[in-house]
Amino acid sequence: PYVIAAACVDIMDRSCMDECPVDCIYEGSRKLYINPLECIDCGACEPACPVEAISQDRAVPAGQEEFVADGLRFFEDV
Ligand code: SF4
Repeated sequence: PYVIAAACVDIMDRSCMDECPVDCIYEGSRKLYINPLECIDCGACEPACPVEAISQDRAVPAGQEEFVADGLRFFEDV
């Protein structure tokens, strides 16, 4: 699945939410989250983000790997 990493924090532009065909992008308190169980890997959200916060989970920027696990945790409580 795709993952939203550090660049989204306190930005939350939400352009990606309009592009996602399965509406699997959700709002947290400081950033947006892609539900990894619902994401169909279409890639539509990635170019929509003005701060380039979105990438595939195996291609998150160096040092931001924690956002993959953070994204999983976010949906554990839902
Ligand atoms: Fe939604 Fe596609 Fe982005 Fe996954 S890759 S979050 S399905 S727009």
